[in-house]
Amino acid sequence: MAVHTQMTFLQSVDRMFDRAAKLLDLPPGLAQLIKDCNVVYQIRFPVRIRGEYRVFRGWRAVHSEHRLPAKGGIRYSPHVNQEEVEALAALMSYKCAIVDVPYGGAKGALAIDPREYTEEELERITRRFATELIHKAGIGPSTDVPAPDMGTNAQVMAWLMDVYQTLRPDDINATACVTGKFPSMSGIAGRVEATGRGVQYAIREFFRHPEDVAKAGLSGGLEGKTVIVQGLGNVGYHASRFLAEEDGARIIAVIERDGAIVDERGLDVEAVYRHLQKTGGVEGFPGARFVPDGARVLEAECDMLIPAAVENQITAENAPRIQARLIVEAANGPVTAEADEILRRRGRVLIPDVYANAGGVTVSYFEWIKNLSHIRFGRLDRRFEELRGEQVTNALETVTGRTVPESVRRSLARAADELDLVRSGLDDTMRVAYQEIKEVMERHPDVDDMRTAAYMLGIDKIARSYIERGVWP
Ligand code: NAD
Repeated sequence: MAVHTQMTFLQSVDRMFDRAAKLLDLPPGLAQLIKDCNVVYQIRFPVRIRGEYRVFRGWRAVHSEHRLPAKGGIRYSPHVNQEEVEALAALMSYKCAIVDVPYGGAKGALAIDPREYTEEELERITRRFATELIHKAGIGPSTDVPAPDMGTNAQVMAWLMDVYQTLRPDDINATACVTGKFPSMSGIAGRVEATGRGVQYAIREFFRHPEDVAKAGLSGGLEGKTVIVQGLGNVGYHASRFLAEEDGARIIAVIERDGAIVDERGLDVEAVYRHLQKTGGVEGFPGARFVPDGARVLEAECDMLIPAAVENQITAENAPRIQARLIVEAANGPVTAEADEILRRRGRVLIPDVYANAGGVTVSYFEWIKNLSHIRFGRLDRRFEELRGEQVTNALETVTGRTVPESVRRSLARAADELDLVRSGLDDTMRVAYQEIKEVMERHPDVDDMRTAAYMLGIDKIARSYIERGVWP
């Protein structure tokens, strides 16, 4: 039996980077500069919890500063370590470059299981962590802007922002110090769903390219395609719900921490999500078959596998048994570099994390712009656009002498609100990036996988930015 020594997440990301970088004609040394993480802070701090002092450990890594601010989520997880944070920060650099979001890459983490603490305790811990991040790691609207990631949410971002505003009351752009905030407190419509929505738009774009669909051994559109999702958290829940409700895909299995549930007829994602919220697992979901060894279900027959939980899920060990034709990396790093090579050899098609889950940072970018401009999108022009629509309808009726149907009148007189604009901007971003990745593949016929092409696209943009600034000869 083959023995598999698993690479670390960072080694995996670096190997993917090396594969792409060597296909680019970069000046000597520049690839290394881009690959290495620029700054990592490790922070330890005590907080009094239930009568005793506990020491917490957190990190903030800024991988690249070719563009500022740096941007990246904050993860709360008991298993996190510095290497993982560096790997995630590197992915952020490449991701932002791929989707043309003008940021450097960063990531933060706190080694904590948020489920073990009450909301009040989490607030105390977060506020203390925020103070350290602002004072020592330089969090701020023009330097480094966090967002939610695994284990964190809008509430955690709200506490961070509140600490920042308390410490820097003279910063007029203070609300832009974090993204992923509640819409009622300078957040943006559509941010919570953004990463899942971006995954949906990426998959839709894939299905607009019949040659890519055929390469995966599939045919037709998304309607009726069978999907297995791992992780029904923020990203997995939204992606699978949208794919099922809006595109007619069939979610035949959901894999969670406690196991997996399978129903070939298609699961009701909303009902599974509610069950998960209520019970903490998927076991006992009515009408579905429960499989205690959830990881086995990654290998089940399906058209599309969407790992949306954590890194290192598809490794050299299980990659030979993966049956999905298309793998969409909604999570960061779910497929190791070794597994990636095996899947490629086996003709499986993969939409890589650095592109597939870029919806979150894209909408964070819109939120940051909104915060800097201090006005919600559409506030100035929405009523004007509606009036214009009415005028067009009236003009049509006058010229033709006929009545415009009520549904057409309503649609012409409806101007975009913030959510419409966010979705439109996200859709455009995902489509353009997909096409740019395809163009790299066309220019390099020896590159036949999206991951290498996406990395090449990102690395090349970062390299150009270093060269144009004169930081590198
Ligand atoms: P989340 O905490 O909301 O959800 C993660 C889900 O995965 C949870 O339901 C959890 O129970 C489940 N899970 C954890 N370990 C698992 C395992 N071993 N097997 C099966 N299920 C498991 O996190 P999220 O924000 O949805 O993030 C998920 C992934 O997407 C992460 O890799 C994250 O870095 C990435 N991501 C998130 C965002 C975002 O905007 N939230 C943006 C880009 C990338």
